[in-house]
Amino acid sequence: MQLICQNCGKRYADQELLYHCNHCQEPLEVGEVFVGSIRVGNPLRQNMMDRYSDFFPYLQKTAVCLQEGFTPLFKSSSFAQKLGIQEVLLKNETQNPTWSFKDRGTMVAMNYAIQKGFHQFGTVSTGNMAVSVAAYGAAAGKKTVILVGNDIAKEKLAPIAIYGAQVILVDGEYGNLYQESIRLGWKHGIYFINSDHPLRVEGYKTIAYEICEQTNFNPPDYMIVPTSSGGLLRGIEKGFAEFMAAGFIAKKPKLVCAQAAGCAPIVKAWENDAEKIVCWQNPQTEAHAIANPMPPSGNRVLQILRQEQGFAVAVAEDAILQTQKDLAQNGLFVQPASAVALAAAIKLVKEGLLPRQARIACVLTGSGLKYTSVLSKQQLSYQTCGIEKLEGLLKNL
Ligand SMILES: [Zn+2]
Repeated sequence: MQLICQNCGKRYADQELLYHCNHCQEPLEVGEVFVGSIRVGNPLRQNMMDRYSDFFPYLQKTAVCLQEGFTPLFKSSSFAQKLGIQEVLLKNETQNPTWSFKDRGTMVAMNYAIQKGFHQFGTVSTGNMAVSVAAYGAAAGKKTVILVGNDIAKEKLAPIAIYGAQVILVDGEYGNLYQESIRLGWKHGIYFINSDHPLRVEGYKTIAYEICEQTNFNPPDYMIVPTSSGGLLRGIEKGFAEFMAAGFIAKKPKLVCAQAAGCAPIVKAWENDAEKIVCWQNPQTEAHAIANPMPPSGNRVLQILRQEQGFAVAVAEDAILQTQKDLAQNGLFVQPASAVALAAAIKLVKEGLLPRQARIACVLTGSGLKYTSVLSKQQLSYQTCGIEKLEGLLKNL
């Protein structure tokens, strides 16, 4: 397998622990697949790697799998009507084994690493990715270590530790943990599957593949992606590019990078027409899952947006919470970071940046049950009554 720097073109062979180019420090990507077919069969009896095996030529067999992927693409006529656009599609990633899109990337990266002879795994995360790596490590019967900042909220620890992973609270600058974990992983044979690891990004291609299949190979005009490290957006772009090269689709969606206004380093660089992101000072948002002040793939995301005629947009905190509530009141309870995509769409329509005939898809990245303490910020009402007065309430519902 070759890793290629999309910035300077330098190639690296069999460097499974390398994330970034030694020459220009930009993220590395697995070489694109230009030819392939979909393994037709009953998806109820397939896993992602069975169905799309041609697009993962470096994976020989599946050693660990929790039946991730194949998530619904929900067509919301009520949001299409509310926004006044042709079609709103919601890719419901909350239905993955650990309730977020991260499972797709963990599955691909861990299978590749097991094939390469690794027995120890790790990640740096306090949220969705920590839970995902812990779960797949458990399913594979491997030792797994999760590094978190010392200031992690206690409610986030137990859902990681329950899988049997070793959880280490590390004192010091959390931002430095990403690099330090990669360095120590090299030294001690621990395969760290961090946010924008090239093989993790590979897993996210399958979101694009599935959307192609679910739209009968007529994908939406815009894909709106909540963006943290930038790995998810990179993976989705690569997936559409590969399916176009293979002749399945005639056009790719334009990509929209959506961030919370309280932590929007990519949007800020985009609005300043800059080629490089600058570290965001003092992130403040309830959308914790995407509150990354210095996204390691941020510069690459800016490149993709320019190449693909996409754009970047930030949404305010009140809009995020309102959209979380609106989604729940349409039956989909997602975490605040996931609501950012649809909140971005609403803002873009208001600003006239999304045409009325547009078909859009938003990625609902993770479940609302992961972060219930945010519910205290929602205005929710309850009623109480004595049992003898219950009928009075029910007959006037
Ligand atoms: Zn490079």
